[in-house]
Amino acid sequence: MNDFKPDPSVCPTHGEPTKRAACPKCNAAYMRGYLRKIRKTRPHETILERARKRARRQGFPYTLRRQDIALPARCPVLGIPLRVGQSRSPASPSLDRIDPGQGYVPGNVRVISDHANKLKGNRRLADIRSMSLKGPLARRAKYQAVAAYMEREALLVEVRQKAAQEPRPDNPWQVIADFLEQRFRHFSV
Ligand SMILES: [Zn+2]
Repeated sequence: MNDFKPDPSVCPTHGEPTKRAACPKCNAAYMRGYLRKIRKTRPHETILERARKRARRQGFPYTLRRQDIALPARCPVLGIPLRVGQSRSPASPSLDRIDPGQGYVPGNVRVISDHANKLKGNRRLADIRSMSLKGPLARRAKYQAVAAYMEREALLVEVRQKAAQEPRPDNPWQVIADFLEQRFRHFSV
């Protein structure tokens, strides 16, 4: 059995990718190494970059800045530890659009696990609820967690709408919205 996997940040011809000007393989190896380093040290950038590309591809608005997303230690939907800086896996952080009909805009995104995001997909709450009752037995609890997540995020949307009707920092609805936002960022089951 051969478990050998070539190091993607190494040029197959030159090893250390030092001949970037002349060798496209060096250049590609260098870029892969660079991106891997970014994934590890600046996970927010990776998440935003992916979202920006997806937004462009799917024609959604994108107005997110670094401070608009929080990266929790665990998936706020399923409670599994999020794994950053590694190749894509079900535990990778992934940006969910809370309302899939809206874009990547502040207030409509939450960092959750790739796994939870795939379970949710573009489904409506009613569909997720029905999956939690009649879906594959092994996945019902997970769909239940996704439904609970969608319900609490929908509640936050409502509270924000109330706060927006009278925008002052001491508006009680705004205080509740801020509180819920902080809770939901790191909510764990
Ligand atoms: Zn090379």
